[in-house]
Amino acid sequence: MTADSSPQSTPEYTPSDALDLGQLTGADSALIALDFDGVLAPLQDNPELSRMLPESAQAIAGLSILPATRVALVSGRDVTTLRRLADPPVGVWLVGSHGAEVELGSSSVPEVSMTSPEVSTEEQQMLTAIDAHIESFELDLSAGSGSEVRSGSDIQTGSDMRTGSDTEVRVERKPFSRTVHTRGLDEEFASALHAHVIAVQAEYPGIRVIEGHDITELAVKTATKGDGLRSLIAAGSPSAVLYLGDDVTDEDAFAELENLTTSLSIKVGPAPTRAPWRITDPDAVAELLTRLANERRAQVAHLPRA
Ligand SMILES: [Mg+2]
Repeated sequence: MTADSSPQSTPEYTPSDALDLGQLTGADSALIALDFDGVLAPLQDNPELSRMLPESAQAIAGLSILPATRVALVSGRDVTTLRRLADPPVGVWLVGSHGAEVELGSSSVPEVSMTSPEVSTEEQQMLTAIDAHIESFELDLSAGSGSEVRSGSDIQTGSDMRTGSDTEVRVERKPFSRTVHTRGLDEEFASALHAHVIAVQAEYPGIRVIEGHDITELAVKTATKGDGLRSLIAAGSPSAVLYLGDDVTDEDAFAELENLTTSLSIKVGPAPTRAPWRITDPDAVAELLTRLANERRAQVAHLPRA
């Protein structure tokens, strides 16, 4: 999170059917940008099990075929994992790795534009140090307690994670970061793990620590979801933008939209936010997107396809 994106408002919950979507439903061109985990997909102890709620998937399918309407998913996941878990319809744009990866596809233009930066030598050194550091926690704990601590991370096979005990370290390997998942873990274990994980930053100040819902991520690129959203806006020139997000990293996207007059920023869940609106959970998101799809369809059905 950048220094200027700290939460500035604490809106009460608004029922999703009470939110005014008029600016979006009537816009000449709309961008519907959506976080995945905790927004479209309920949070899971095992992040490999995250799936979109069927109602949201249906609403996104409906929105994605409307004229002058672009849907984008904006996630901390890498683009490959995001595509696999979200299974988005053709034409949906993807931002992964908190903005470091941007994939623009379209139903009318088959070529997909993909921005996926290289990992520099220095960044690779940091990733190697992160892996060694995380692994040292597992070894320390095993030696100290005499009990076996199983590792859910498989250093060779990427983000493949196994489900298991409450002292299992789950590490998601992404092109530019490692994410340590602590959801569902024993509390003491999770807190020791977190303290250990972030200590690597003392040795490598270039590593960015990203704290999220029961995750600690160590990233070697500095891109934010705000950067990703800016790329989407530059590519699509929408006249109105919706952004929905539930996590700390989404605050950068909310901050980005404060410069746009025709935008609607909605926080999902209870955490502090700078977004002016707040709804409860992925079920409320599904309701909102369903209504948006129906109302925009009625308004733009006559327009030519983008
Ligand atoms: Mg999220």
